[in-house]
Amino acid sequence: MHKIAHNLTQVQNRIQAAAKACGRNPQGITLLAVSKTHPPEAVAQAYEAGHTAFGENYLQEALSKQAQLAELPLSWHFLGPVQSNKCRALAESFDWLHTLADLRHAQRLSQARPSQMAPLNVCIQVNIDAAPSKSGVTPAQALGLCQGVEALPGLCLRGLMAIPDPEHPGAFADLAALFAAINPQLARPMDTLSMGMSDDLELAIAQGSTLVRIGTAIFGARQTPPSP
Ligand SMILES: *Cc1c(COP(=O)(O)O)cnc(C)c1O
Repeated sequence: MHKIAHNLTQVQNRIQAAAKACGRNPQGITLLAVSKTHPPEAVAQAYEAGHTAFGENYLQEALSKQAQLAELPLSWHFLGPVQSNKCRALAESFDWLHTLADLRHAQRLSQARPSQMAPLNVCIQVNIDAAPSKSGVTPAQALGLCQGVEALPGLCLRGLMAIPDPEHPGAFADLAALFAAINPQLARPMDTLSMGMSDDLELAIAQGSTLVRIGTAIFGARQTPPSP
């Protein structure tokens, strides 16, 4: 079996075991394969192993990979920082965006979403452990941005996302609590809690993650990222 196919199976086994350990149905947990810095061949190998959802952080790299893999029925999730001048390309080229943290970006994305495409699925990134260097809204700002996004026709609000510091494992529970507090105040409840990476997917699943974003454990160590 090829290395990537083998790694995918291993990660799926980890997800199954983590779900079982806390009495959750593993079907409720989506695996997103984070392919940033890895070549299109690696994505094609994961596809041949039956995987179709991929995450990317760098717009130019993602667009070139999408073009090279245009024949394959893949879905693409953007995980990098959003900038105003990238909103149009993001709206035209992705199925999901996990890192929305600004209402003006939300408005631009909604406006730029082509009408023949389904609304762009978005998660609001929350700086849940208040790390000074990290992007994302504060927990107190999250509800307001969720409500703003709900009103935009080109976007579909799906959930909350965070990248907690490994030193703050309690942050997963904090994000889950925020999700539970916000949901009853929305017209349509969110269904996605995007948290957990290669090193901490078990912790995240134990706290209710519905989507884990896994790079290294599937594709191996990353090469130096290309300039964004
Ligand atoms: C790179 C990245 C991941 C994957 O991280 P691994 O530790 O390699 O699994 C997940 N989420 C985001 C936002 C990332 O930037």
